[in-house]
Amino acid sequence: MPTLAPEKKSTRSGRPAPELIFGDLWEFDPAPETANPKLKSRYDLFINGEFVAPKSGKYFDTINPANESKLAEIALGGAADVDAAYQAAQRAFNTTWGRMPGRERAKYLYRIARLLQDRAREFAVAETMDGGKPIKEARDFDVPMTAAHFFYHAGWADKLDYVAPGRRVAPLGVVGQVIPWNFPLLMCAWKLAPALAMGNCVVLKPAETTSITALKLAEIFQDAGLPPGVVNFVTGAGATGAAVMNHPIPAKIAFTGSTEVGKIILRSLAGTEKKMTLELGGKAANIVFDDAPIDQAVEGIVNGIFFNQGHVCCAGSRLLVHEPVADQVIAKLKQRIKVLRVGDPLDKNTDIGAINSQEQLAKITALVAIGVKEGAELFQPACRLPARGYYFRPTIFSGVSMSHRIAREEIFGPVLSILTFRTVDEAVEKANNTAYGLSAGVWTDKGSRILKMSTELKAGVVWANTYNKFDPTSPFGGYKESGFGREGGRQGLLDYCQLA
Ligand code: NAP
Ligand code: MG
Repeated sequence: MPTLAPEKKSTRSGRPAPELIFGDLWEFDPAPETANPKLKSRYDLFINGEFVAPKSGKYFDTINPANESKLAEIALGGAADVDAAYQAAQRAFNTTWGRMPGRERAKYLYRIARLLQDRAREFAVAETMDGGKPIKEARDFDVPMTAAHFFYHAGWADKLDYVAPGRRVAPLGVVGQVIPWNFPLLMCAWKLAPALAMGNCVVLKPAETTSITALKLAEIFQDAGLPPGVVNFVTGAGATGAAVMNHPIPAKIAFTGSTEVGKIILRSLAGTEKKMTLELGGKAANIVFDDAPIDQAVEGIVNGIFFNQGHVCCAGSRLLVHEPVADQVIAKLKQRIKVLRVGDPLDKNTDIGAINSQEQLAKITALVAIGVKEGAELFQPACRLPARGYYFRPTIFSGVSMSHRIAREEIFGPVLSILTFRTVDEAVEKANNTAYGLSAGVWTDKGSRILKMSTELKAGVVWANTYNKFDPTSPFGGYKESGFGREGGRQGLLDYCQLA
């Protein structure tokens, strides 16, 4: 285990002066983003274009996982609120949005994207404070990608004849959507932009721990003059989500979250005529061959699993490494994670922020303990963690076999399980030997091998010599227990229309 430099006398910043040991973490002065995302102390439901109190009068707290402080109160929506939201959505569909020409709908989507760009910094800070992700990710990935999704789908709204050439497309009507906490704002865009471009109206429930940026997006909808009822946000917990999924009005439901809840939804909707898309969990393999550019692969592996604290459904949580280079890759990985900065997500230098909730931290901690008990070899850098808040060290397990739970179960945290392989066939077999099938990565110098692997891997996305690259034009979705349906691209639009 690496040792940190002993603390020395204080510097100008008041922090202990660092003593550099080669290969260990360089101390930077803190570089925090100002914590002023213009938060309200209380957020109501967004129904029919207005913020309204929940019928129960109940609210729950949303906290900052970086320091456990309360950020705001969020309305606890119940079945009556969900019903009011669906009635509003149905009215909007019948009277305005469903009848509006696509070129007019496009103008609203462009306006939303531009208004979001205007307030990008404020949204990034709010996302970081509510969810715990590093500000550099919220700023450079979540917010720009959200705007990109609205821009991209604005571009489609007047070209819907090309979604299914030779067929006529029509909106489905009203759609119900439930999203998770790992990309709160971006998931709103993935769900809302294609639905709106097609002419549907929406009721959406954000995740309990991360509702703030959806409600800030509602402010943008008001500023953009989006007709009332086109988008409605009902905040709350699992029961609110179940009410959104099981209401009789929506013609389609779209869910992103865990496979466990996906199965509950699937069972509860069996026999109904509702269309459905489910984007669920994953246990992706990042596969490194001996001819790969090793340093780039190490960066890709780190990005694949430690990006957003590993709170990524398509995280490269299993590393399959070719035996001839296994020792070299593992040694470089250990060296690399020693210099990852874990801590205050608002600090611009932070690589790994806070775990989203105490519950998720407990889940990660329990699975890591199981990995140790099962005999895998654990490596964690000895970085200092903040005294308050939910943090977990970047963690590597080597000597993992397919029977280990850490090789099979989604940990959804900064934990990498390393397995080795000898042949291409063995790599494919191990990668596909999972209940999931969302994504995979291949690192090799050979184009032919990339093509072979991407054909044989049962994963919705296969990245080659890169990882976690997203684009609104590119469809995303899973095989097997990772769900069905696609989000993004032309394929994503097909899931929000009926064809004639
Ligand atoms: P989760 O527990 O399944 O929750 C997802 C959403 O469903 C939340 O809004 C949740 O509300 C709500 N919910 C809970 N119980 C429900 C029920 N019975 N009926 C309807 N809605 C219900 O998942 P999570 O822990 O938030 O998110 C992590 C999971 O999402 C991981 O498995 C990850 O892989 C998956 N994910 C998949 C994708 C993808 O595109 N495939 C993308 C992101 C995340 P509460 O917040 O109140 O619990
Ligand atoms: Mg929160």
